[in-house]
Formats: sequence, structure tokens, C-alpha cells
Amino acid sequence: MSTSVLRGEGLTMRFGGLVAIDSVDFSLRPGEILGIIGPNGAGKSTLFNVISGLYRASAGKVFLGERLLNGQAAHNVTRFGIARTFQSSRLFSDLSVLDNVIIGMHTRLRSGVLDALLRPSRARAELLMAAGHASELLAAVSTGLHAQRHRPACELAQADRRRLEIARALASDPKVLMLDEPSSGMDDRDTDALMNDIRAISAQRPDLSVMIIEHDMRLVAELPHRVMVIDYGRKIADGQFADIRSMPRVQEAYLGRRASNA
Ligand code: ADP
Ligand code: MG
Repeated sequence: MSTSVLRGEGLTMRFGGLVAIDSVDFSLRPGEILGIIGPNGAGKSTLFNVISGLYRASAGKVFLGERLLNGQAAHNVTRFGIARTFQSSRLFSDLSVLDNVIIGMHTRLRSGVLDALLRPSRARAELLMAAGHASELLAAVSTGLHAQRHRPACELAQADRRRLEIARALASDPKVLMLDEPSSGMDDRDTDALMNDIRAISAQRPDLSVMIIEHDMRLVAELPHRVMVIDYGRKIADGQFADIRSMPRVQEAYLGRRASNA
């Protein structure tokens, strides 16, 4: 028996001759915040794409609890309890903030398009409940965002768009939340605020596990309980950031390369 929520065994993803993810083993514990770092092109987003069912692993297995996820379509993976955000925004920009969150709930709503046509009162009642729930969720994620819930998503500032993406992911009531570079394009102040929000979300939901791909070293140093380093598709380190940051291969692969780029 394992105590991991999510577990990867020998996960491999090939694109033609390129091995983007190479025999990666990992596990995520309940309530844990796991940071994933590594240079550009290391395979971090590909790892998320494989876990979330967008890509089909070339080899290896992913388990959510005892359930094997390989071969499951992305919408099923979401339904089983894995929600994610993307490196680039995927909001419905013309829809309101609230509607974007309601869309995130679709895996939990029972009424479909047919119900809306054939049983409009039931569908409407469910939608009203969803709107109430979405509003509560927004308030819990950010009071500032909640105050803007009737504005179209395109009018939000960058940091609030990120918050909305996180709120929408949480709307499916996941066991695992995967965030792909949530702080990208943000200044230090917004990054700090976002880090506090993620910490608060995690504290409000003791069972929620978070995987976060990050490049901002201040955030990586402070937020995750544990950090996994990927380089050329391989896991090269896994542990507390304070312990792994000084490892020569981590320095060389990531910190050194980044420092020399800066
Ligand atoms: P990271 O997120 O760590 O910056 P990615 O996971 O996006 O890196 O990419 C890892 C490698 O896989 C890169 O060389 C990238 O070009 C390649 N790659 C990612 N997705 C695809 C794809 N759909 N088709 C072909 N190559 C891809
Ligand atoms: Mg990426």
C-alpha cells in the first residue's frame, strides 16, 4: 500500500526521436506542495501533459491513488480528481469571471445540454446552485477577484487572471492541483501575493496536493514542501530545496545555467 495521492513509475514521453520525459518516478503525498524546477525545455510541462491525459505516455505508469490513469482521456482525469492550469492563459475572455468558474465545475454538474432542453427547470436549479458555489469559491480564493465576478475575464489584471485560472481548476474539487508557472510574467509584488494565495488555498484544504512548476527562485525557496529537479527529461534531484540547491548537478543543470544566462 502506498500513501501517495499521485504516483509516476518510469514515466516516459517520446516525440519522435526526442525523449522529453525519461523514466521519471515521482510521488505526491496528501496535502503536499511539490515544486518542479528545471531549465527551459527540460520536460516539466510535458510531465503535466502526460499526467493530465493530454499526452499518452510512451512508457511507464501514472496512478491516482490505486487507479491507473494511463489511457484515460483528459476529461476523465479531471473527473477523477486532477485539475490544472496552463502556462499560457486559457480563460474564456468574453465570459464573466463567475461563468469561467462555473465552466470549471462542469465535471460535477449532472445536467447536460439535453437536460437544459428537455428539463429546463432542473437544469436551471442546478445552474443556480453552481453559481452560488462558484461565488463562494471565488471569495475563498480572493476577495478582490470575487468583487470582480461579473466583469468579463479579459478585463482582469494579469495576477487576477492567474487567480481565476486557479479558482476554475479548484471548481472541479480536485485531489491534485497542478500549476504550470503561475507566476510567469508577474512582478515581485504580484508573485508574493500569489504565493500567499496558494499557501492559503492549501491551508484551507488539508487534503489537497499541489504540484507547481516554477521558475521564480524566491517562490521555489519558500512555498513547496519538497522540490523535484528535471533536466533533459530526467529527474536529477528530489528533496527539500535547502538540501538540493547546493547539489553540484542541480547547480550545473539549473542554477548555474540560469545564473550564467542572467
Ligand atoms: P519545459 O516545460 O520544461 O520548458 P516542455 O515539457 O515544454 O519543457 O518541453 C520538453 C521538450 O519536449 C522540448 O524539447 C519540447 O520542444 C518538446 N516538446 C514538448 N511538447 C512537444 C510536442 N507536442 N511535440 C514535440 N515536441 C514537444
Ligand atoms: Mg513548460
